[in-house]
Parts: sequence; structure tokens; C-alpha cells
Amino acid sequence: MTVVTVDVAVVGAGPCGLATAIAAKRAGLSAMVFDRGCLVSGLASYPTYMTFFSTAERLEIGGVPFVVATEKPTRRDALAYYRAVASLYDLDVRQFENVESMRPVRMDSRAGEPDPARPARWLLSTRTRGGVAQEIAAHAVVVATGYFGRPSTLGVPGESLPHVRHGYHEGHAGWRQDVVVVGGANSAVDAALDLLQAGARVTMVHFGESLDSNVKPWVRPVIEARLKEGTVQARFGSRVKAIEADSVVLEGPAGEEHLHATQVYLMTGFLPETRLLEQIGVPLDAESGIPAHDPLTMATPLAGVYLAGVIASGNQANRIFIENGRDHGDAIVAHLTR
Ligand SMILES: Cc1cc2nc3c(=O)[nH]c(=O)nc-3n(C[C@H](O)[C@H](O)[C@H](O)COP(=O)(O)OP(=O)(O)OC[C@H]3O[C@@H](n4cnc5c(N)ncnc54)[C@H](O)[C@@H]3O)c2cc1C
Repeated sequence: MTVVTVDVAVVGAGPCGLATAIAAKRAGLSAMVFDRGCLVSGLASYPTYMTFFSTAERLEIGGVPFVVATEKPTRRDALAYYRAVASLYDLDVRQFENVESMRPVRMDSRAGEPDPARPARWLLSTRTRGGVAQEIAAHAVVVATGYFGRPSTLGVPGESLPHVRHGYHEGHAGWRQDVVVVGGANSAVDAALDLLQAGARVTMVHFGESLDSNVKPWVRPVIEARLKEGTVQARFGSRVKAIEADSVVLEGPAGEEHLHATQVYLMTGFLPETRLLEQIGVPLDAESGIPAHDPLTMATPLAGVYLAGVIASGNQANRIFIENGRDHGDAIVAHLTR
């Protein structure tokens, strides 16, 4: 197998991975970006008609203006923007190519390095959707794998039934249906309101005694009004015990309850994609799940391995988002070229 050599291999073509590849290119380094899905696949999987809470300017990368006619950009605006930026910088993005593993390059196999100043330190094994395997040797690897690929599961019977979804796109199919939305944070609230708008009979189920404290301040009064008037029902302090073909079994303050439901949305969040980091031995903090790294340079304790984007925030995905993860690439490249 021919091994391709590159200065910087970025795993993950989310906004923060793309920003890193741009920073590398601007510094004269060669960069390749791998994604097991499409470009910004996390954003592509957002609710179809979603509007960002950030203004367009705060989602910009590579100094490319993101101009929209509305106050906040939509998902479609953002998809078009990141496609345009990747094209403008002519980024080498390998879509639908999963990075399966990585391992250190053996010191004795470095003869004939293309750039002795930047020897390849890591070897990535990738596989395309069509099954084609490739090896890439890189001086530095930036793990920007985000967190959308690993839903936080409930671990209850029935979770994989066909009418149960981790994630939400749109409410049309909920018209005149009994729909249960599990969760109490922004995604659950947005889904519940959108389903209501589409004519669904919605019940929110949350283990907390009330909605999460971080529900967006401009959405909270809307959902609270709907809960008060009863157009959205809620079961707080309740846990899902099982999901059946036409009901959700709950354990709540009043004991066990069977809620009729033909559609169930588990809006219970996601877990960071740390598999590659764990594989090569980057330690994760036992409590926070944060991979060991220097927040100033984003360097992990393993030479040549860096973090970019939300992966650096461990289990608390809300700590890092596009707004404050898009600068990681500059810090990494400054460290690499110092
Ligand atoms: C509904 C919703 C609304 C949001 N609104 C905002 C907002 O208004 N403002 C804001 O700043 N943030 C917002 N966020 C958060 C934002 O989407 C994330 O913080 C952002 O996507 C993180 O970018 P990232 O590049 O770190 O990772 P991601 O976007 O998660 O990208 C990681 C990529 O890595 C790929 N990948 C993973 N493992 C591998 C592998 N082994 N091989 C190859 N590829 C791999 C994945 O396919 C994915 O494309 C929102 C999130 C949601 C869910």
C-alpha cells in the first residue's frame, strides 16, 4: 500500500477541524482532513429548519465573512458557508473516509523522509465507505472528532425500536400523533415546540424536577407558557424504564405509568468521540472525561497529537462550541511552527 505523507492530518471535518486545516495551509503546511461523513456532518444532522443561537460572524472561520440577511443564520446558511470556505481554501477534505486507527511511526523507518524538519510521527489507517484502505503518515495529527456520533443512550429495553430516534429533524410526521420527547435541555425543548407546531400531542419526560437551567433565555418563556397551558405535557422527576411498540413506560413520583406514544425522541445528548485518543493512550480525566491537553497549545502529552473543537470539553459538550473552538487551529499551528 502506498503511504501518503502530510504535515498535518486532521480527523474530523467539523467547523473546528476545517479551521485547523486552514490555519495549517496559511502557515505553509500541507493538511489533509478526514471525515467518516460529509463536510460538517454534525451540522448537516441538526434539525432541518434550525436557526443558530450564534450570530453569523461568531461562526466564521479562516477570516471569510459569513453574511446573512437575518439576525441569526440557519442550518442551510451554515452548510453553504462551510462548503464555500472549504472550496475557497481548496482544502483537501476526504469525505466518507473513516480514520480507523493510528499508531506512532517507528523511528527506524524514517529513511527517505520528504521533509526532515518535519518527520512523520504518526501513521493513520483509514477506510472509505467503499472499503478502500489507506495509510497516511503525518507529522502532526489533530483529533477534531466532536461528539455527534455517539448518542448518550438510556440503556433501557426497546431503545432500538424503529420509532425511537436519537436526534430530531422535523415535526411533520408527528401530526396528530402522541409523541414523547425525553430530555430537558435545549434540543428537547426545541423538538417539543417544533412538534407542537406540526400538530403533534407532545409529552416531555425529564428526570430533573424542572427544565435544565441552560435552556436558551428567549425560548424558556415560550416552553414554560406551553407547559402551563398544557398544550405540551410534561412528566418531571420521571425516568424511562422501557419503550414498547406503542408506549413508553415511566417511573415517576406517582409510580409506574404507560404513556401512549407512536414516536419517541431521545434528546439526551451525545458523548465525546474519544476512541482514537484512548487507543493511543491519551489519558481522559475520570470525572470530566476531558482528554489531557494544554489549553494554550491544544497539545496532548503525546508529541504530535493535538485536540481541536468540542472534543476538548469532555462530557460537558456545552463548554466548547464553534464560537470558542474555531481558534484552536491557530493555537495548534503556532505551537507546531514555533
Ligand atoms: C442543535 C444544535 C445547535 C447548535 N448551535 C450552535 C450555535 O449556535 N453556535 C455554536 O457555536 N455552536 C452550536 N452548536 C454546537 C456545535 O455544533 C458544535 O460545537 C460544533 O459542531 C463542534 O465542532 P467540531 O468541529 O469540534 O466537531 P463536530 O462538528 O462534531 O465535527 C466532528 C467531525 O468528526 C467526524 N469524525 C468523528 N470520528 C471520526 C473518525 N474516526 N474518522 C473520521 N471522521 C470522524 C464526524 O463525522 C464529524 O463530522 C449547536 C449544536 C446543536 C446540536
